[in-house]
Amino acid sequence: MRLKIHITGAVQGVGFRPFVYRLAEEAGLRGYVLNDTNGVLIEVEGEKQELDRFLIRIDIEKPEISKIYGMQHSFLEEAGYKDFKIRESEGQGERRVSILPDIAICDECSKEIDDPDNRRFEYPFTNCTNCGPRFTIIEEIPYDRQNTSMKNFNMCPECWTEYSHVLDRRFHAQPDACHSCGPWVSLYDAKGNSMFDKEGAIERAVDLIKEGDIVAVKGIGGYHLICDAMNEDAVVRLRKRKQREEKPMAVMFPDMEGIKAAAIINDLEERAINSVERPIVIVQKKEGNSIARSVSEGNSTLGVFLPYTPLHRILLSKLKGPVIATSANMTDEPIASHEKDAFSRLEGIADGFLAHNREIFRRCDDSVVRIIAERQVPVRRSRGFAPLPVILPFKLKVPVLALGSYMNNTIAVGIDDKVYLSQHIGDLDTPLAVDFYEETIDDFLRLFDIKPGIVVSDLHPGYHSTKFGERHFGKRLKKVQHHYAHILSCMAENDMPEDAEVIGMAFDGTGYGTDNTIWGSEVMIASYRGFKRAFHLQPYKLPGGDMAVKEPWRTALSLLYSTFGEKSLDMECMAIPEKEKAFLIEMMKKDINSPLTTSMGRLFDGVAAMIGLNQRVSYHAQAAIALEQLALRSGEGGSYPVVVKSSMIGHMPLIKGIVDDINNSVPKEDIARKFHNTITDIIINAAGSLRGDTGISVVALSGGVFQNALLLESTFGRLQEKGFTVLIHQIVPPNDGGISLGQAVSAIQ
Ligand code: ZN
Ligand code: ZN
Ligand code: FE
Repeated sequence: MRLKIHITGAVQGVGFRPFVYRLAEEAGLRGYVLNDTNGVLIEVEGEKQELDRFLIRIDIEKPEISKIYGMQHSFLEEAGYKDFKIRESEGQGERRVSILPDIAICDECSKEIDDPDNRRFEYPFTNCTNCGPRFTIIEEIPYDRQNTSMKNFNMCPECWTEYSHVLDRRFHAQPDACHSCGPWVSLYDAKGNSMFDKEGAIERAVDLIKEGDIVAVKGIGGYHLICDAMNEDAVVRLRKRKQREEKPMAVMFPDMEGIKAAAIINDLEERAINSVERPIVIVQKKEGNSIARSVSEGNSTLGVFLPYTPLHRILLSKLKGPVIATSANMTDEPIASHEKDAFSRLEGIADGFLAHNREIFRRCDDSVVRIIAERQVPVRRSRGFAPLPVILPFKLKVPVLALGSYMNNTIAVGIDDKVYLSQHIGDLDTPLAVDFYEETIDDFLRLFDIKPGIVVSDLHPGYHSTKFGERHFGKRLKKVQHHYAHILSCMAENDMPEDAEVIGMAFDGTGYGTDNTIWGSEVMIASYRGFKRAFHLQPYKLPGGDMAVKEPWRTALSLLYSTFGEKSLDMECMAIPEKEKAFLIEMMKKDINSPLTTSMGRLFDGVAAMIGLNQRVSYHAQAAIALEQLALRSGEGGSYPVVVKSSMIGHMPLIKGIVDDINNSVPKEDIARKFHNTITDIIINAAGSLRGDTGISVVALSGGVFQNALLLESTFGRLQEKGFTVLIHQIVPPNDGGISLGQAVSAIQ
């Protein structure tokens, strides 16, 4: 196996390459290290365990004076290196101004704010050349203090000395500041009236949180809503006020010990939690932990993270316990980032506001990752990662702008061999989200100084992103099918060369097809130049269209009706009022608001509803997640029959099998497991058949359905056993947050 690591940071001229050489030699790994325009590129080959250790040791043992600002890594197929070499820096391409992400507080700065004798003791805006805000405070480039939201603060003589001294850790640290010259925090009451400034504000905020109140805290990329994670009442109140009924919320802990008391974590998860990006990491909950039940009720997982700004660190060390730290917004709206905005939008939600006078120019949500199949799979790539580029294995001939699609949206700009993905924008269905989206497009074109020769959008005629493209870019606009874009993103981040061909499996909820129906289970032969749809689920109806997304019982009924006809009216396996059943069947018969789909995501929903899980859902993929967690409790190895006819994968034998099992009182866990096994069978069989036809033995797995850890792990393992090279996501999310990368590389020409 090969591990590829791209490090951005102060890693040149500090003995980094010899250090990497020594680590690799000690572990007997083969490959190379070289300096590139942004930092260091490393490839090493060997056993997975050794590679994991290598990855972890880089962080821990790196040369004292080196600094890591970003570390994108992925595990790939072996390239066959014979030994380990320090390579000459190659191809000094055009050196573009690179804008760094916001970097978690470093150890030195942490020590200073913990030290009562230091002049920065408990100063919530402490930073240095190696840490602190970047992306979120930069208004213009070049990155100088005058072009950041620090421009209104004049450095005191002491800070100025640090800033101008070459050997100082704060030499040219643009946001350098201290108690006497920098920004400060203020506490406001629920109505936005100013209460306390500076230290008093923090003390009072801590008291409020301890008393069970909800405090909106302005962080680095926006506001969080924070409350005591062990106080059930407070958590329930937060859910009610935020209208976030069930979706799990992330918990920030003061330290790693706290996390280990609440969750079971392995080495790679610990590394991710500690990594310079400090994402939220989805881990296994420990039974009987002290976190309030409603934080992630009914879920066996928990999103955990560590403080990444001085302000969070000070708050958490005073609180000495975990807090909920969830983006401050109403469900489906972008995160709030300005005081006025926060006061009005969070009225009735927050009991107080801990704000500050360092402006956020660019909002940026927390990132989320999960370790699946011993790899770090991004769920949301935002703070800490954006706007670091994804490096392509080839060069784009013209600059490109990718508009993304609709859900969990991101945009991207591509130039040469780099694609810069935006921070998480979210679903484009509120006016606020649309504003944020359009701002981000302008922002990225300006920041990276790009005049796109090609602009790429989704095919869906109803998406705001498509309409925006049509309105603004006319002839330059190219439309790319959604699932093809998923596969392209997976190929690109896995270093597939320009002439590669893969078997692509794009399984997700919704994507507009070239036949104007809703697709979602595409098995295709794909290259960077085009794709051919080879297999897909047999189409079924979605009675009520989008309503079926929120109400999985509708899909269940459709699947049952298409399998059993009128008999499905009498079936007991669904807790649906008779009247509604009959009404929906009429709708489907008359083709009223019942679009056809081949969605794999909906199939998961429908099966979940059929076995009595979620008839209605309050957040995306909720039913599918419930089905996965149920399946994890079973060791059942069997599966349901699958019939493939003229490139259509029939769902009827599968649905019949499930109904038989329900009637025979087979435990629901086993049914859920057998269903997962069946989907894996479908993938294995389709891949085998296409390999037979074409000789292609590389399979790319993409689309939101592959956030399902059980499905991804078993599919990945079984495909490898069959001798396939399997590509999965490790740099961008498998969900629609990764679409913009696929769109950008479609401009390859
Ligand atoms: Zn620092
Ligand atoms: Zn100062
Ligand atoms: Fe998708």
